[in-house]
Amino acid sequence: MIIIQYDREGLEYDSYAMITSFFPNVETKQMLLTDASEALPADAIRISFDPETRAGSVFFAKGETLPKEAQYYFEKEAGITEQELKHAWKIFFYDTMSEYSGKTLPWGALTGVRPTKLIMSVAKEMAQGDILSAEEEQEAVVKRMIADYRVSREKASLGYRIAILEDSILEPFRYDAKRGEGYSVYIGIPFCPSRCLYCSFLAYAIGSFQKKVADYLACVEEELKACTQIMAGKRLDTVYIGGGTPTALSAEELQVLLDAVEKYLPMEQVQEYTVEAGRPDSITADKLRVMKAHQVSRISVNPQTFKQETLDLIGRRHTVEELKEAFALARAEGFDNINMDLILGLPGETLADVEHTYEEVVKLQPDSLTVHSLAIKRASKMRDWVQEHGQISGMDYERAMEAGQAAAAQMEMQPYYLYRQKNMAGSLENTGFAREGKYGLYNIAIMEEIQSIYAIGAGTVSKKVYTDGSGRIERCDTHKDLSLYLSDIEAMIERKRKLFGN
Ligand code: SF4
Repeated sequence: MIIIQYDREGLEYDSYAMITSFFPNVETKQMLLTDASEALPADAIRISFDPETRAGSVFFAKGETLPKEAQYYFEKEAGITEQELKHAWKIFFYDTMSEYSGKTLPWGALTGVRPTKLIMSVAKEMAQGDILSAEEEQEAVVKRMIADYRVSREKASLGYRIAILEDSILEPFRYDAKRGEGYSVYIGIPFCPSRCLYCSFLAYAIGSFQKKVADYLACVEEELKACTQIMAGKRLDTVYIGGGTPTALSAEELQVLLDAVEKYLPMEQVQEYTVEAGRPDSITADKLRVMKAHQVSRISVNPQTFKQETLDLIGRRHTVEELKEAFALARAEGFDNINMDLILGLPGETLADVEHTYEEVVKLQPDSLTVHSLAIKRASKMRDWVQEHGQISGMDYERAMEAGQAAAAQMEMQPYYLYRQKNMAGSLENTGFAREGKYGLYNIAIMEEIQSIYAIGAGTVSKKVYTDGSGRIERCDTHKDLSLYLSDIEAMIERKRKLFGN
């Protein structure tokens, strides 16, 4: 176990994220140090930061896990901002841990979830200086990401390519005085056929919560009615129904939901209408027909893996054959924009298992593919599973991700969006690949934070993105608890009225 002790609050998030990336299989605990004279436990890393002298130190105690004693110290010039100081700390801490462990991380000292947003801002900064060709600009941005953030050349280049593509895809969504202000609507349906081992989303097993479904849909309808009024005068660009699994609803319930969407939302200019079908065990021909009749343009059918033992272990309750049938059914019903989600690093999976999954995906030819690196979330059952069984997979994640890039290229897809999460396997990223014209527009819009998201349903977060160039963003959430959400629906709507100011 690694115990991290701090004598200053505010460093813990980045330091903890980095330590768990360098030592993914070692249990790590954080404590605030109240008495600096206290002896350092055998397996502790003590992080100390003195705001007066602007000096930071890392002490490694002797112990089995960390058999080396070292002390590092640095001093920064006075007068730098708090943000610069934090950045200096991150780089110092990354270099220290890298030297100590003999490892580097693919995304270096970056701990945020939106590397492409940062890369784009670096590219825009570069564009204000000398006039550079596209190649020169790419090289300058890549060099800056390596020098200032310790990102690997490969990830910096990938991030740059994606940032540039995203920028062009999102052009019509940006605020512009002529076109007006656009926004997207997210609707959360917090029900699923069963709960997956790795799930940290709001997902009530529909079998046990069936009695609440009608009330829930009535509340969603109330929210839709209010949304149209609150967002009046703005342009609705995309609608995304996720969860949970929206297709956990029956065909009749789905019809009620999609009728309400159509009745209340201004759908005329919507460029993408997604329903996450997700679980193959929830997809039926009649539900697909309901979606098609309501002009749903994009769905997902998510395998996660094509290895049956893993599907059984993670609680997906469907077979590989059923998955293929659900995909074929969606094609037969006319869906020409189908996404597939995969997860790298599921329990017991080897590189050969992942390669087999890619082969099967290539045979099916979806229109887009999202490759996730497994992230172990506190709210998931996976956390207990890891504590009980130890290390999940000794797979070479970088090779698994490279194989994903090769499979996507074979299907003529290119990477178009990317984000990171805490505690990701291999300290990698989630990457979306798509054929031209089949990009998940809502996904990029939410990731790059270029427009407001009006979120409807329990456990959802609305986001107001200011269009005054300040980069200001404000949020409001709704109750996660289903009963509380149902009984407090007026207050949930009022929160949004206050946020969006209408
Ligand atoms: S299908 Fe998705 S939302 Fe539902 S339990 Fe599994 S991971 Fe969670």
